[in-house]
Amino acid sequence: METIEHLRQALRIRTDWPGTVPLGNIEAEAPLKQFQDYLEKTYPAFHRVAEQRVLSPYAVVYRWPSNAGTALEGGKNKPVLFLAHYDVVPAEQTKWTVPPFDGELRDGYVYGRGALDMKNTLISLMDAAEELCTQGFSPRREIWFAFGGDEERNGTYGAEKIAQWFASQNLRFEWILDEGGVIAEDQIKDLEKPLALVGIEEKGYLSLELSVAQAPGHASKPPRIQAAAVLARALTRLSKRSFPPRLIPTVERFFIGLAPFAPKKWAWVIRYPRLFFPMLAVLADNMGSDFSAMLRTTVAMTQLEGSAADNVMPSLVRAVINLRLLYPWKVETAVGFIKKTINDDRVVVKIHQLATDPVPATEAQARRVGPGWEALEEAIEEIFPGTAILPYLMTATTDSRHYQTLSEGIFRFAPVCLKKEELARIHGHDERISTKNLESGVQFYIRLFKNA
Ligand SMILES: [Zn+2]
Repeated sequence: METIEHLRQALRIRTDWPGTVPLGNIEAEAPLKQFQDYLEKTYPAFHRVAEQRVLSPYAVVYRWPSNAGTALEGGKNKPVLFLAHYDVVPAEQTKWTVPPFDGELRDGYVYGRGALDMKNTLISLMDAAEELCTQGFSPRREIWFAFGGDEERNGTYGAEKIAQWFASQNLRFEWILDEGGVIAEDQIKDLEKPLALVGIEEKGYLSLELSVAQAPGHASKPPRIQAAAVLARALTRLSKRSFPPRLIPTVERFFIGLAPFAPKKWAWVIRYPRLFFPMLAVLADNMGSDFSAMLRTTVAMTQLEGSAADNVMPSLVRAVINLRLLYPWKVETAVGFIKKTINDDRVVVKIHQLATDPVPATEAQARRVGPGWEALEEAIEEIFPGTAILPYLMTATTDSRHYQTLSEGIFRFAPVCLKKEELARIHGHDERISTKNLESGVQFYIRLFKNA
């Protein structure tokens, strides 16, 4: 299958630049540019039919014209949009059992950083489009693709710029599909049914810097109250008081949808999640952090810093905490909750880098109606028969948050069947995708392009 070769080559392009650099950094941008050229070279039939627009090395957009033009009535001619990113996170080479950037094929798996997140999706989309273009197919609705080169670093040069460009062109989309949920095979203990987790809602993202200042000096004469102790007390308070659990409608529907396939001993709790909410919260904690994170705003303590030398008092100690906001918590209210919990003026709380509010599901998405749901459900049922399709809350962020004003229906789903163990390889070691998954991914997008 050509797709395997296409992915292997894509994985060899080193788009794993570690941090954010100013626009125009040639060294950082060369591989991104190389990736864009690679698409052009690899998909000639698609490039003959589609219009390509390179906004920067971090952003490339395609428009695949429809056969209907504006003939579809009732506003149904709005285009659809597929998102992907071609940057990847770095890899700790020594922890891998295969080289992370060689695209090695071994025992039915393609290995490499980006094999699941998400060069596989990008390549599958392109292979599916290429195949259809070769056959002379053109879609009913216009189909757009937007590919970013810095999703793993907030999407400031990629997704954000592309979304601004779409807005400047007055473009709106009937629905948008981005990465997100997968077909989970053994995510939940004692539950055999594969679950297609279609993300219709996304948590917000907020990092806060907590800092405490003090006069610098020699460590032989420390002050009675030290900045580090003040900071530690603040962190302890935060760990003792978590955000209250809450059942949002998307999560309620997720659990209700799960109930028919759940083991008897707890099926009754999730069939009536609102009624048995306290029990559900305990159950979700036992089901794993994926599920407990669906019920509350989480706080992760990620960075801690003091003095550079062991015998110097730090003039500033700082910690960074990373919050994932469950609707209706927003950046502003969450900052308020944190400050109130810390309750200490000596601790300065500041927003660190880009913060985004949650992106709730739209009314139609929540009711599971509309063209996006229809197209997705049909394609999932056809390519992955026997799968339970469930609405899902994304606990991680995606590029799609930059596009929220451009569509009423953003979906976050990738057509890969994954076991828990394989999911853990995303951003971990030995990331890989089975060739079977790659093949069904292409079939899925072919079906979806026809349904769109
Ligand atoms: Zn990703």
